[in-house]
Amino acid sequence: MADEEVDPYPVPRPSATSRPDPGPGADASGEREAGHVERDLVSSPAGTLGTDAPLSIGPLPKGPGAFDDHRPPAAELVADCVHCGFCLPACPTYVLWGEEMDSPRGRIYLMNEGLGGEPMTDSMVGHIDACLGCMACVTACPSGVQYDRLIEATRAQVERRHRRPPADRALREAIFALFPYPRRLRLMRGPLRLYQRTGISGRLRKSAALQRISPTLAAMESLAPPLGKPERVPERTAAQGHRRGTVGLLLGCVQREFFPGVNTATARVLSAEGFDVIAPPSQGCCGALSSHNGREEEAQRFARAFIEQFERTDVEHVVVNSAGCGSAMKDYVHLLSDDPEWAARAAAMSAKIRDVSEILAEVGAVATRHPLDVTIAYHDACHLGHAQGIRAQPRELLHGIPGLELREIADGDICCGSAGVYNILNPEPARELGDLKARNVLATGAELLVTANPGCLMQVASSIERAGGRVALAHTVEVLDASIRGLPPASLGVPNPRAAADGAALQPNP
Ligand code: SF4
Ligand code: SF4
Repeated sequence: MADEEVDPYPVPRPSATSRPDPGPGADASGEREAGHVERDLVSSPAGTLGTDAPLSIGPLPKGPGAFDDHRPPAAELVADCVHCGFCLPACPTYVLWGEEMDSPRGRIYLMNEGLGGEPMTDSMVGHIDACLGCMACVTACPSGVQYDRLIEATRAQVERRHRRPPADRALREAIFALFPYPRRLRLMRGPLRLYQRTGISGRLRKSAALQRISPTLAAMESLAPPLGKPERVPERTAAQGHRRGTVGLLLGCVQREFFPGVNTATARVLSAEGFDVIAPPSQGCCGALSSHNGREEEAQRFARAFIEQFERTDVEHVVVNSAGCGSAMKDYVHLLSDDPEWAARAAAMSAKIRDVSEILAEVGAVATRHPLDVTIAYHDACHLGHAQGIRAQPRELLHGIPGLELREIADGDICCGSAGVYNILNPEPARELGDLKARNVLATGAELLVTANPGCLMQVASSIERAGGRVALAHTVEVLDASIRGLPPASLGVPNPRAAADGAALQPNP
């Protein structure tokens, strides 16, 4: 058997400039470390790969393989992959590097190897870590492979069983000690606002010095949105006109502290459409960030606290305006399925979760839409489009605004590189994807970019600024809110034609 990893599906390989370091045991191309024993592709103990026939999964061998017995990636789900390759062009990491092991099919192959008893190597972890979790492969797969389940299970195994290098561990601990905690984020607002106002931020970005010192710090710095005044959603907002129901509102963590205008706009729009809105101020993180990064126990803790809090409100639905949070909350049913005390409560809560565009399209508009003369490009957040299948509803709502022109973005299915905290953990590929998205957004000629996720707003704003482009940014619900209230496009950061002619720079809507 050869020492080198054999690519089971050979493809031409473009340059791999931004590929994350695959780990100390791998070579420059990310290949398996020397000494790795190549598995026979046809007779892998966990099934058959490298042929066009469906995998046949036999009894798994015992031994210290990559995965332990606690929720490993399910062999039957791995077997659903018929390795047709339809998912490859949809996968951002495959688009960037052309590496089979950085494609959905390649990652499923690695999971199969792990199930067959292969150890969890640095190289394997590198390929799993490089996945954005964007779920474009779930949309693209004609065989219905549940890659979302597979990567979630694999990530949790990696977090439990793999020891990362000290710097990586420290960065991850810092991220997870900060982002899921709104109060800690709030403490950062003052110093961050001061820093932005002194102009140091602008000078640093222009000089690119930070990028040379630390791409991670540069990514974090460039992602911080311009901070405006804090806005708080009242604990209860009464329905206007005929009452159509009572809904809870997820305030979120980054959304609440860095994009508070999105939450207040959501409460106003729901109220205008006939809903009482309940927003418990003490609510914590929904657990999405932890869940998407394999921190299973932490995600379960957040989920239990969230469920308990909203059970007390007795709302019919819980409305979410952040795509990543919504997809994780709809998944509570799986996250807590092994917990006898919580399984049914989690399933009931998952059934109540609605994205704001989903519920508004479901009930139909009653509030009057005033004209909004603006050209917009709509960006499908991956966790809304791919993970929740919500694409038509936001477009339908936007088309319902008189005067608004909606333009589609080329390669709209490809992730912008935000992907939760991916752009902090993997700044270089995230930057490449962001630059690609920025080019395609600017090519639409739209004045306003609209999307449904705070992470995408920060990522695309930063990429557009780097490209020297000018486009305002807003959440879908902010556009609806402006139309219902009869506000001009300028309220969304879109300049009037005269200001644009004078060369005023456009800013993301704070
Ligand atoms: S499209 Fe689906 S079945 Fe085909 S290789 Fe990708 S994951 Fe496997
Ligand atoms: S989730 Fe996205 S990055 Fe990961 S394998 Fe699927 S398409 Fe590729």
